[in-house]
Amino acid sequence: MAKSQSKTVKKTRTKSKIERAPVEPLVLQPLRGMKDILPTDQPYWDQARRVTERLARDYGFSRIDIPLVEYANLFERSIGEGTDIVEKEMYAFTTKGNDKVVLRPEFTAGICRSYIQHGMSVLAKPVKLFSFGPLYRYDRPQEGRQREFYQADFESFGEIDPILDAQMIQIASRIVQSLGIKSVQIQVNSIGCPVCRKDYRALLVSYLESKKNKLCQDCKRRMYVNPLRVLDCKEDKCAQVAAAAPQSVDHLCDDCRNHFKTLLEYLDELDLPYIINPRLVRGLDYYTKTVFEIWSGSEDGRKSSLGGGGRYDKLIKTMGGEDTPAIGFALGIERLILEMKRVQAKPYKAPKPKVFLAQLGALAKKKSLRLFSEMERNGILVAESFGRGSLKSQLKVANRLGVEITLILGQKETLDGTVIVKNMSTGVQETVSTDKMVDLIKKKLKADNVVVYHS
Ligand code: AMP
Repeated sequence: MAKSQSKTVKKTRTKSKIERAPVEPLVLQPLRGMKDILPTDQPYWDQARRVTERLARDYGFSRIDIPLVEYANLFERSIGEGTDIVEKEMYAFTTKGNDKVVLRPEFTAGICRSYIQHGMSVLAKPVKLFSFGPLYRYDRPQEGRQREFYQADFESFGEIDPILDAQMIQIASRIVQSLGIKSVQIQVNSIGCPVCRKDYRALLVSYLESKKNKLCQDCKRRMYVNPLRVLDCKEDKCAQVAAAAPQSVDHLCDDCRNHFKTLLEYLDELDLPYIINPRLVRGLDYYTKTVFEIWSGSEDGRKSSLGGGGRYDKLIKTMGGEDTPAIGFALGIERLILEMKRVQAKPYKAPKPKVFLAQLGALAKKKSLRLFSEMERNGILVAESFGRGSLKSQLKVANRLGVEITLILGQKETLDGTVIVKNMSTGVQETVSTDKMVDLIKKKLKADNVVVYHS
């Protein structure tokens, strides 16, 4: 009997082993090309967010947030089929509902979709929109290139005048400079409109055909799908071919030439030095006329593009909206932060509490939560260490934090409705009624430590 029982147990064990799905080991790291933004790095992110948000506000941009996931064809049609983003880099998948979707690789297409969908064309022009958030591109990760990265994005709809182009370049450069990155290079180019680009494209293709054997495999194919893209190929041999290629600025129609000339005059007026880079094409199909990039100007010669953008006067119409000229740009936040660190620019310094609340005994501990919240509501930053029991260890924390005042709430004070206010530099203590505490602390602290979030 015992023998047969043990046999049954054995059988069941084997069966359950087969049925159980294999347990994947837990990988304690994010996906390749993705990173945590740890608290130690947040002061840089705070600074980037504060500066971009302030400039967006100052230049009249309204915040917009769009979903991370959109239909795949939104990007395929707008960015263009022959581009690296669409061909190789999209995080594309089919949902359970059979929708073909993509994690957004850029902001412009989604913001245009929203602009059309919500009938923003009836708003006073230009309609200026700003966003900040993560994007996804399945590229080969390296320093300054991630698969999940953040951008601050600015889009302006409804204005054809080149003064807008100049203002967008001005904003991009102001953001970078305000973050403490002083040495930057503005690169501009004009890639014309569909009218003049047609002739230029034909000229370029025939030039590239004559140099075909000197191009990389990708460019041999690209020259027919997206010939402008050959001009910014990173391969040395392609760069040599590109250096002698016909330049779009020499083949602009009158309208595009005047637009570009006027933009350069505005940039001169703004004292914004620029370099005309005939090889700057930005790769995406939707650009027309002005394209630009902001480059870090490091002395060691390792330059990186901090951001870029351009006009896309035909995109809204192509997507089914009204004919609406537009221009936008985006700055890469990780790249800005790398550059801030390289030039030792200051991150955001959050105000530190100058008051510490210490409690002693069970009753005081209970009351201290309310006292803390009263000060918080009055805009006084307070530190505490509620988990600690002994006054000595709490005062140790207060000393380490370098606070100016420590409030001590013991059993007696709790019963009397008072609190001890200790000046940490002189050691002088006074007992005050808790009703008067907030006013007294406000008076004692320098005004800059009182942060009023709400009136
Ligand atoms: P783009 O949208 O390609 O014009 O890029 C605008 C800016 O975003 C670039 O100048 C970079 O600063 C940043 N950026 C683009 N791709 C990446 C990436 N894969 N990782 C980090 N930053 C990026």
